[in-house]
Amino acid sequence: MMDRVFLVHYGEVGLKGKNRSFFENKLVQNIRRSLKGSGCADVKRIYGRILVPIQPECDVTAIREKLGKVMGIAHYALACVTEQNIEAIQTTALEWIRDKAFKTLKVETKRANKDFPMTSPEISAAVGGYLIEHTGARANMRDPELLCQIEVVEKAAYIRAEKIQGIGGLPVGVSGKVLVMLSGGIDSPIAAWRMMRRGAKVSHIHFYSYPYTDKASLEKVKALAQLLAIWNYRTLVYLVPFADIQREIVTKTPAPFRVILYRRFMARIAQQIAKVVKADALVTGESLGQVASQTLGNLRAIEDAVEIPILRPLIGDDKEEIIRLAQRIETFEISTLPHDDCCSLFVPDHPATNASIESVREAELNLETDALLEQALENMETLTIDD
Ligand code: ATP
Ligand code: MG
Repeated sequence: MMDRVFLVHYGEVGLKGKNRSFFENKLVQNIRRSLKGSGCADVKRIYGRILVPIQPECDVTAIREKLGKVMGIAHYALACVTEQNIEAIQTTALEWIRDKAFKTLKVETKRANKDFPMTSPEISAAVGGYLIEHTGARANMRDPELLCQIEVVEKAAYIRAEKIQGIGGLPVGVSGKVLVMLSGGIDSPIAAWRMMRRGAKVSHIHFYSYPYTDKASLEKVKALAQLLAIWNYRTLVYLVPFADIQREIVTKTPAPFRVILYRRFMARIAQQIAKVVKADALVTGESLGQVASQTLGNLRAIEDAVEIPILRPLIGDDKEEIIRLAQRIETFEISTLPHDDCCSLFVPDHPATNASIESVREAELNLETDALLEQALENMETLTIDD
């Protein structure tokens, strides 16, 4: 049996010096984590690539699928490894492609080890000629049915005949931490995922209105956090009871401001938890104009309550785009299970769509803000979701 590896490539744009090894080390660490239990612990960096050696007993299909869920991988391929001499490369390449069906082929070479005596075009020509002679296929440089790629790196040569698109982005953990306001709906899990893809490590916070609502949203949020942990690894989830705050808002402030005031309180509590988890921003699934509370004026009235930045990665997305992504990363099914969101409780027929900051602040004067926040935080629970 030939020695096999997954050869992993990452986008290197803008990566220099110290940042680059930080990025690479994180990616190696995350790949190991994603592949734990798969029997390939020996993940290592070689010159601008990452190698995942495959043992004969490994489940290659499962590993291929898992690598598709590691943020920061640009593309990857199953490859075989051989010695760095041209005869070995020729015979191994032939063995590697032998049971594939193709009538035309092309060989491409990248030579990172400049001590190897042949240039890249010379290697491609020598291997291409050999493969054509032994398979009867024809050369086609434009649109070959089989593209065989050879990489001559450090002390070995790697031969591959596939290129699988990775998820892209940056390795989770290289861009700091954020706290996601996770609702149980469609949008916020996607907002979380988009931040993870830019390298942010995510924690979640969820507000629930039990006993005004049942506990369905809690179960949904746990299930969503579990699905997202495939990408984010071990994840903290903060569950905050919100019923008392809502009751106060409903009884003591004008009805049109309710949703904005719910959101201001959520943001304030989240800001405090952000300090605990060392998150530098909050994240929501808001998208401009999607519902009455998501007008520019209202977003501003919400932001007014906190100092920490609120990031909204879906702000410019259409619902359909969000749904497509939710289907692709498989949160859609859980997100669309029925639940009562606390923000849809006691919502008036005509909520304010463009509340002035002054009027919202004034409405809030009727509330014991500090005491309400303190009480909610006291009754908060923390969950750790393992990937
Ligand atoms: P989603 O599908 O994410 O629920 P939505 O379109 O239903 O979004 P809203 O209900 O207005 O929109 O919520 C906007 C954002 O506010 C959500 O994306 C989420 O980030 C946050 N949010 C709403 N309700 C909660 C909640 N109960 N707990 C935590 N965050 C929430
Ligand atoms: Mg919602």
